[in-house]
Amino acid sequence: MTPPTVRYAPSPTGRLHLGNARPALLNWLFARTNAGRYVLRLDDTDTARSTSAFAEAIETDLAWLGIVPDLKVRQSDRTALYDAARDRLIADGRLYPAYETPEELDRKRSRARLLGRPPIYDRAALSLTDEQKAAYEAEGRKPHWRFRLDGRPVQFEDLIKGPQTVNTASMSDPVLIREDGSYLYTLPSVVDDIDLGITHVIRGEDHVSNTGTQIEIIEALGGTVPVFAHHNLLTGAEGEGLSKRLGSLSLGDLRDAGFEAMAVAAVAVLTGTSLPVEPHADLDSLGAQFSLDKVSHGAARFDPAELASLNARILHAMPYETAQPRLAGMGLDDAALWYALRDNLERFVDIADLATIVRGPLTPVIAVEDAEFLATAAALLPDEPWSDETWKDWTGRIKTETGRKGKALFHPLRLALTGREAGPELRSLLPLLGRKACLDRLP
Ligand code: GLU
Repeated sequence: MTPPTVRYAPSPTGRLHLGNARPALLNWLFARTNAGRYVLRLDDTDTARSTSAFAEAIETDLAWLGIVPDLKVRQSDRTALYDAARDRLIADGRLYPAYETPEELDRKRSRARLLGRPPIYDRAALSLTDEQKAAYEAEGRKPHWRFRLDGRPVQFEDLIKGPQTVNTASMSDPVLIREDGSYLYTLPSVVDDIDLGITHVIRGEDHVSNTGTQIEIIEALGGTVPVFAHHNLLTGAEGEGLSKRLGSLSLGDLRDAGFEAMAVAAVAVLTGTSLPVEPHADLDSLGAQFSLDKVSHGAARFDPAELASLNARILHAMPYETAQPRLAGMGLDDAALWYALRDNLERFVDIADLATIVRGPLTPVIAVEDAEFLATAAALLPDEPWSDETWKDWTGRIKTETGRKGKALFHPLRLALTGREAGPELRSLLPLLGRKACLDRLP
């Protein structure tokens, strides 16, 4: 396949959330596995709601996931292109001014419903004479501009959903330009897709019905129609949109809460596909397994428990080399410490607390009835050097000497040596603690 060019096109009107990570990553994996290009397009034509702070946060969040676009564009920089397309469509009679107020349009829709007709715009504006238009303008009305649809079944082969037909005969001519001259999403999006040579449009299935209109506009502008792939949207357990829960699921919040980028990425990509939701070391590994035909036609329900467990599994398998920069930042840069503690992590930051078992401060927990037993155990501590075998040797000796076994043997030792009921394996902790620290914690 000739190298594709894809785009991810968020609006910088808020923080990205887990649901947004899905198209961001599907485009990225498609580009990477096909040696293609990835364009980040900021859809910032809504100047009232778009901010540069949100635009920066989008780039930061994408970088955290491992996405570094080959090209970044902002729609607000590209108005001249949209103006040229507008003029061409007007000249070709495909874009026409309409003067109805929102109230007038409402009345038309109500009337159509009463007559049992679909509430489709009646194209009254198409037959306005120049005098009528001038009269509206004299009243102070400004036109909005509608695209004249062909009104035909538009067919396309969706890479995920298969053959699709959108009949534009059942749609109102879409408004492309508002009364104040500003562009709605559709025209800039199509113009950019043509201008940037986008070969594949991978996005949420909420855009399927827009595709009919978009294909008509692309053809009207003489552009090449890209291949479309519409994926299922990540939803909550009840099928509700994730954006409603933005508070807890923005990528920034997930990062701050200590989730691994690869846990978030794997959940965002693999949920609602035929592949198991499993840990992957990096995006290349995810890309090697994933392809668009694996996206299922059914729901993609996000399960927070799955994210938590994937996060833990990623940490439990994480090599020291990967953890090292963050360990260094926490003053915990020690390979043996990492390997002793990683199996007990749910979040990376948990290691700060677990490390106190080795480095202190720690208050041993010694029950009165165990004091004598523990004193015996202290007397049996082997000489150093210690290894992973030391725990087995030592507890073997204690067992022979005291006759205790199972929980009665191990639990008091754990409470004294770690100060807690449960935690990392003592077999790995013992060599890290060393004889002196153990003696200090025993009676
Ligand atoms: N800004 C649009 C959105 O976020 C882009 C849709 C598209 O990919 O065409 O819905």
